[in-house]
Amino acid sequence: MPARVGVLSLQGDFREHLKTLAALGADGIEVRTPAQLEGVDALIIPGGESTTIGKLAERFGLMGPLRHRIEAGMPVYGTCAGMILLAREVTDGEQPLLGALDVVVERNAFGRQNESFEEELAIDGLDEPFRAVFIRAPWVAKVGEGVEVLAAVDDHPVLVRQGHILASAFHPELTGDHRLHQMLLDWLVD
Ligand code: GLN
Repeated sequence: MPARVGVLSLQGDFREHLKTLAALGADGIEVRTPAQLEGVDALIIPGGESTTIGKLAERFGLMGPLRHRIEAGMPVYGTCAGMILLAREVTDGEQPLLGALDVVVERNAFGRQNESFEEELAIDGLDEPFRAVFIRAPWVAKVGEGVEVLAAVDDHPVLVRQGHILASAFHPELTGDHRLHQMLLDWLVD
């Protein structure tokens, strides 16, 4: 049976993640309700606007069930806004957060003139560099003890892992390089 991988589909570029999962032979499932969340083995939280995704997740009664599944060990991968949502804290105020990943995130951290850029990123554990697309991206301002930094731009962490939680400030679903999605799928068979 193919792995059932949910994509939180409240706002943002969830369709691109579903395409990537299809390309990898996984069963990508749109998640908008707690019942849909129950049926998946892993979850991707896409990029978009983290405040909007958080508010919608609250409205749909998903915050508690999401926290519960992640605490129980469900593999999860957050990209950009998804990384923000997973974090325990943001540097600039209040917004709904899952608090599952022990990092403090700075939103829109790369500055105005550099709002969007691409970079060949060296990633720990991958042999070849990864073409990373950053769109009004956050960076990680502080990491907790159990968090590994797998890649950084100018010393700012942009890819981190804490056990079964993976989070990137960039968007691998936009470039056709599926290695990070594959990492999530590999955790399901470990
Ligand atoms: N700037 C957005 C936020 O703060 C994230 C951008 C993205 O997901 N590409 O939520």
